[in-house]
Amino acid sequence: MPRAVQISEAGGPEVMELRNVPLVEPGPGMVQVENRAIGLNFIDTYHRNGLYPLPLPTGLGTEGAGVVTAVGEGADLAVGDRVAYCSAGIGSYAEVLNLPAARLVKIPEGVDFEIAAAVMLKGQTVEYLLQRCFPLNPGQTCVFHAAAGGVGLLFGQWASALGATVIGTVSSAAKAELARAHGYHHVINYAEQDVAQAVADITGGVGVPVVYDGVGRDTFEASLSCLQPRGMLVSFGNASGAPEPVDLQRLALGGSLYVTRPTLVSYTGSTGELRDSAAAVFERVLDGRLKVEIQQRYPLERIADAHRDLEARRTTGSTVILP
Ligand code: NDP
Repeated sequence: MPRAVQISEAGGPEVMELRNVPLVEPGPGMVQVENRAIGLNFIDTYHRNGLYPLPLPTGLGTEGAGVVTAVGEGADLAVGDRVAYCSAGIGSYAEVLNLPAARLVKIPEGVDFEIAAAVMLKGQTVEYLLQRCFPLNPGQTCVFHAAAGGVGLLFGQWASALGATVIGTVSSAAKAELARAHGYHHVINYAEQDVAQAVADITGGVGVPVVYDGVGRDTFEASLSCLQPRGMLVSFGNASGAPEPVDLQRLALGGSLYVTRPTLVSYTGSTGELRDSAAAVFERVLDGRLKVEIQQRYPLERIADAHRDLEARRTTGSTVILP
């Protein structure tokens, strides 16, 4: 029987167990995928600790890359296809699993399984944040928190290639150096500096039209304070915990501010959107505009260590789990 990580209760990394799980033949529209690499994402910790509650028991993990080993009726893929996925359901921490064919994309030649698993979810996130959620124009300035993280290193490269001025925040000097090497023009160490003041200094007191904030609770207020009138806070994650409810009066005081709380799944809801977004990511990987930094690798048996390191801010760039 293939092995998969499951939880029977929400909690810390210790609740994850590697179990033998029975696998049925893929049903209509489904395919069976043998994973070659699995992507680690912060959302996996929210599923594990109950911030985003799941019916229990459950598998974990949202991203992976592998080979199609069986095809259900009507599925538009073939045995042997190399595929990647990141919003196809939960349970990618597995050796083998069944997935809906409509939520998979074929990995282009020249991209290996590890790179695909390292870039698919994080790259698609950058694609929709920058191109569709708040489309960033050349000459505009933006702020991105946790610049040396998985999404962060991809964001810096993509945003600077668009011709924007990119300000990143990080918690250490080593992370600042890494961020600068990945497109950030200015890096603020938010462990030492006041972010709103530093952004005011960089922008000559004007502020920025957009802040992309995946840190959440600890940065939310500072993010609002960085915005120029009618600016937008794109609050897309909770690495430090979920932000407090928004006081509409605070948005008025900032000068007619906007706040949006986007999710990847709502920006890749149709198969067309999903595949267009993935194509934009893989195109940039293949032509060298996007360098994918796999900074950590763990075998599936050490998934708890991978979660501990991610939550303790010990990781940078992307992390890949090997089944
Ligand atoms: P990262 O690799 O960026 O890891 C999280 C980083 O957040 C840490 O390395 C750390 O960087 C920073 N951080 C700040 N405060 C804390 C804290 N208290 N605990 C832990 N980390 C903290 O993760 P990902 O790239 O996987 O994801 C980044 C964010 O984007 C997450 O919030 C995730 O949920 C969100 N996301 C949202 C999506 C969406 O569509 N809405 C899709 C994908 C990701 P530092 O040490 O520099 O502060």
